[in-house]
Amino acid sequence: MTVAIDRDSTVAWMDAFAASMAEHRQELVRLDTAIGDGDHGTNMNRGMEKAVEQVHAADPADPGAVLKTVAMALISSVGGAAGPLYGTLFLQLGNGIAGSSDVDLPSFAAAWRKALEGVQARGRAQPGDKTMVDALAPAVEALEQASDLGAGLSAAAQAAQQGAIDTTPLVARKGRASYLGERSAGHQDPGATSTFYLFKSAAETLAD
Ligand code: ADP
Ligand code: MG
Repeated sequence: MTVAIDRDSTVAWMDAFAASMAEHRQELVRLDTAIGDGDHGTNMNRGMEKAVEQVHAADPADPGAVLKTVAMALISSVGGAAGPLYGTLFLQLGNGIAGSSDVDLPSFAAAWRKALEGVQARGRAQPGDKTMVDALAPAVEALEQASDLGAGLSAAAQAAQQGAIDTTPLVARKGRASYLGERSAGHQDPGATSTFYLFKSAAETLAD
């Protein structure tokens, strides 16, 4: 069982997340059509396509550099709310593990904490506001509580999935969905759903 994250597994993770965004593009479009403008699936699909293209072209040396390349690609190619928010997430995650070629669970969990803080500093969303933070925050907590990388990543993916499901009854207080007020209740948040897929891809690629 792998105990550290290296450059190759990080690239595999980003490839898997890009494939997941292509696979779930229509689902994310459908969720964003219900409470937003319907572009989340296309945004994430296009952004991650660009991101892995640039990762394979630039061939970054370590996990942190891979994630920073993804951040830059998302910031420059994805408009709307999700581009800058995911850009911040990957930038803080990459900065948190910068220069290390084998990243262990405690360092990875600490970097995820910084990523969550970065997303919250940029978007001003708290848990319960019906955003990607509702999947991200419980996933980061699960990683922090884990003692083994593989178990921690699957616990994080499960926590993110539950967090995304639990956004359904909430009334949105941030982002485009908040314009709908009470009518935003009854629909799962698209950004929380793509964040679940990010952790699902991590569980499938970083620990075996
Ligand atoms: P846009 O809303 O600009 O069309 P997307 O559709 O790509 O952008 O992304 C929408 C998702 O972004 C939402 O489902 C939500 O999870 C997330 N989001 C929007 N605003 C915020 C915010 N202030 N903080 C955190 N997440 C947010
Ligand atoms: Mg949208």
